[in-house]
Amino acid sequence: MLPISKPDIRLEDIEAVTKVLLSGNLVQGQQVEELESAFSRLHNVPFAVAVSNGTAALHLSLLALGVAEGDEVIVTAYSFIASANAIVLSGAKPVFCDVAPDSYNMDAGLLKTLISPRTKAIIVVHEFGIPAEMQDIMSISEMFGIPIIEDAACALGSSYGGRLLGSFGNLSCFSFHPRKLITSGEGGLILVSNEEQRNFLQSMRNHGLDLESQNRKYIHAGFNYRMSDISASLLLNQLSRLDSILIGRQRIAERYFAEIVNPGIKLPTVKSESVCNWQTFPVRFENKLKRDKFVSHANSLGISAILPAQNIPSEPFYSLSSNEEVACVNAEKLWEEAVALPMFELMTDYDVRQVIEACNDF
Ligand SMILES: *Cc1c(COP(=O)(O)O)cnc(C)c1O
Repeated sequence: MLPISKPDIRLEDIEAVTKVLLSGNLVQGQQVEELESAFSRLHNVPFAVAVSNGTAALHLSLLALGVAEGDEVIVTAYSFIASANAIVLSGAKPVFCDVAPDSYNMDAGLLKTLISPRTKAIIVVHEFGIPAEMQDIMSISEMFGIPIIEDAACALGSSYGGRLLGSFGNLSCFSFHPRKLITSGEGGLILVSNEEQRNFLQSMRNHGLDLESQNRKYIHAGFNYRMSDISASLLLNQLSRLDSILIGRQRIAERYFAEIVNPGIKLPTVKSESVCNWQTFPVRFENKLKRDKFVSHANSLGISAILPAQNIPSEPFYSLSSNEEVACVNAEKLWEEAVALPMFELMTDYDVRQVIEACNDF
């Protein structure tokens, strides 16, 4: 079966991990520091804090903004469930913003109407690595004085207006799950410009330790959200190959755009000011029935095709716990009609052709 994605772990990556294993320093140490400075240099953001996964990154970012019970945080309805779960973990209430029609991302026009006196933050997801409408969203953030957390879990290497995603938000979160562009199995990272918030994040990932004091003092009830040096060493080499990873994915996306000619299959659109890393290549069908038929058709040809994200407000936890009717019509349609095609650098020309033929024969 041709998978949806497969990490490209090379001998040099394994050798880097072996070195760490033999060094005896396995937890957060020099490798984590190197990863943090590489991320902060790449994005031109002053600080980076590596953590145990992308959900931990979102959770700590919310806490760094002081989000707590009684607050509201606006988040995209169509995303991986973690984008909303992190808000619940912080004690606040998620307010779901529908996606724009024919888009996989937050409707910036609708966003404005969801802001209330309780709104403490906005989580902007760049779903599948496709850049959200950052110009409109940033001007709303400035107009209302509401901070932005970028959920850039899928978006390493994508850019908007020539600027890398993850460099717009007050805080920005990345994930290193195997479905993302670079991976350590589990892992996450936060980019942040405010030094006080950076200090808070560093303390909170390490049980609330006071990093200023000479003798160990704990000033918060923190977590163990640390990243290990094993994970960081695995990521550093992959990060240095980011350009070639992006080119590899671009090459496949270009073939999909040029050669999938089935009028029943709607290809994703990316605005001219945006560059997408193609973490996921989503396509859309006229209705759920056709989408489901395509999934069986692809599977019967040995090709994986998966439902790539949720309409979060329809998931049982959210629909059953909310007293209000949350209708995110566009997100619901995406949930019914979208599917992800295989997309990873290691795909051969033959693999790509198989996927294209499966689409065109449908
Ligand atoms: C993967 C993902 C996350 C969660 O990251 P983990 O590392 O799996 O915790 C959050 N948001 C989005 C949009 C994601 O795709």
